[in-house]
Amino acid sequence: MPEGRIVKALAGFYYVKEQGKTEVFQCRGRGNFRKKKVNPLVGDWVEYESSNVTDGYILDVKERKNELVRPPIANVDQAILVFSATEPDFSTLLLDRFLVHIEANDILPVICISKMDLVQGTDDLDEIQKYIETYKRLGYDVFPTSTKTDDSLEMFYPLFKDKVTVFAGQSGVGKSSLLNAINPELMLETNEISSHLGRGKHTTRHVELILFGNGLVADTPGFSSLDFMNIEAEDLSMYFPEMNERRGNCKFRWCSHTSEPKCAVKQGVEEGAIPQFRYDHYVSFLQEIKDQKRRY
Ligand code: GDP
Ligand code: ZN
Repeated sequence: MPEGRIVKALAGFYYVKEQGKTEVFQCRGRGNFRKKKVNPLVGDWVEYESSNVTDGYILDVKERKNELVRPPIANVDQAILVFSATEPDFSTLLLDRFLVHIEANDILPVICISKMDLVQGTDDLDEIQKYIETYKRLGYDVFPTSTKTDDSLEMFYPLFKDKVTVFAGQSGVGKSSLLNAINPELMLETNEISSHLGRGKHTTRHVELILFGNGLVADTPGFSSLDFMNIEAEDLSMYFPEMNERRGNCKFRWCSHTSEPKCAVKQGVEEGAIPQFRYDHYVSFLQEIKDQKRRY
């Protein structure tokens, strides 16, 4: 039975593409998988059969490694987190919140610092450079970009290869502009255009995985909610790579890395290996998780 990936779902049809091929098969749902009550999602690996490109049937949906709600996509491999250097201000608190969610969903994070052309004055530039270096030192890939001065953005292409990638980040940071710069055929509405037309930006549209750079990229940016409902307090430090590599050396196995003695994480903060602001964010997220658990 051939296997492929759903790259688009529209009006009761699923469009299935096999790895390494460009041909897309239009399929309906049929077969046993419907008894499992799974709703096929864009990104799903499926077994299908078809006699030609318009008359296929999906027979089974494979187990997912993860699933985003907004945009609805299964089996996401990578998220490009777009954070503007300015307008809106660069926020390490929000970035760390995104990073925790992405690490917790087994998705590879890539940080993109957008609107670098708007950073004026050496102090502001020094500050943003300092953050770029800090996150690189923690092991993240960081790409400063500008869609105003660089219209090729070719450095993204190798990243896409063999992966399903979504763009995520706050509204107004430049996600649509970046997607358009990478693939001009997309022509996503940016905030600029939609305000000229006097209508809201988020007209409902379906999500589609588009093939470029030898990978699949979601044409709709977004990310599911950023509360910590699905994250356990004792797992939180796993999602900070610089804490994760030290947590095994804490004296207590259940160490929360706050008030316990002989804590390898706190020692890492004292030695400067764990940035103070990252640790502070860890502590505030931990509190948020505990407050949430108390409420439910
Ligand atoms: P989204 O909400 O994240 O999709 O953001 P948009 O792509 O709609 O961009 C929001 C605004 O920022 C628009 O007015 C864009 O023209 C502007 N913008 C996006 N990227 C850049 C950039 O690299 N430099 C500058 N100066 N403006 C940008
Ligand atoms: Zn500890």
